[in-house]
Amino acid sequence: MGLIARWRAWRERRLIERHPIPDALWAQTLARYPFLPDSPRLRAISSLFLARKEFHGAGGLVLTDAMAVAVAAQACLPVLELGLALYDATTTIVLHPAEVEAPRRDHDEGGLVHEWSEELAGEAMEGGPLMLAWSAVDAAATQSEDAPVFNVVIHEFVHLIDMANGEADGLPPLPSAAEGKRWIETLTLAWDRFADRVAHREPSCIDPYGSAELDEFFAVASEAFFVQPARLAAEDPQLFSLLAGYFRPGQTLDLPPSLAHDPGGLRTQRVAKPAIPS
Ligand SMILES: [Zn+2]
Repeated sequence: MGLIARWRAWRERRLIERHPIPDALWAQTLARYPFLPDSPRLRAISSLFLARKEFHGAGGLVLTDAMAVAVAAQACLPVLELGLALYDATTTIVLHPAEVEAPRRDHDEGGLVHEWSEELAGEAMEGGPLMLAWSAVDAAATQSEDAPVFNVVIHEFVHLIDMANGEADGLPPLPSAAEGKRWIETLTLAWDRFADRVAHREPSCIDPYGSAELDEFFAVASEAFFVQPARLAAEDPQLFSLLAGYFRPGQTLDLPPSLAHDPGGLRTQRVAKPAIPS
């Protein structure tokens, strides 16, 4: 580690030590969002996230520490191993009380203009602020075990990871072009299997919203990976393995015994760290 990197690491360690998320608030967050692991590393990286990002309440929302910690902890789950630098392009998080109606405008090939509006629970923009509806963030705390997983914070922050190497296209930063190619092939095959399940109205832990585009599929599949990993592993072992290899390299994950011994290789593979400064 070079001198500047060492100094930065020291400064951040001090920052985390001086401004840790208070015990009671951390315990309350873990209790509210049971899929969050009680991990000192998650707590430290979430403290750093809070120090680095700015939160704004919009539409009359009065921000509380509990809201900011709820967002920080869920946002940091995907970058627990990959590092917070993947979120460097976004410094502002805007929380609205409820879903936001966004006007949309497009024209078709014949030049005809179409206007409509969309209800947004969240939105990530390249280099811009990240928007979240608090009602949707809060809804992630209480959801049915057999409905598709819904987690707007993980969803929008996985879009940021996807955008860390350019546009949102379902391809996050990977160490080599060969790994990128393998990623796209594997993800596209999983997307096809998912589209089949949606077409046949088979139950899935992945939000049907993922059938629209590959980048949306990456985001909704990641929601399922972090919130209900065992269910995703049972539904699509190859997809689970791809996401585990990316988000949790070199780790053995807690899985039902029937899946843990699957010779199909559920155990994650260690991949080289993406070439981004941490
Ligand atoms: Zn999305």
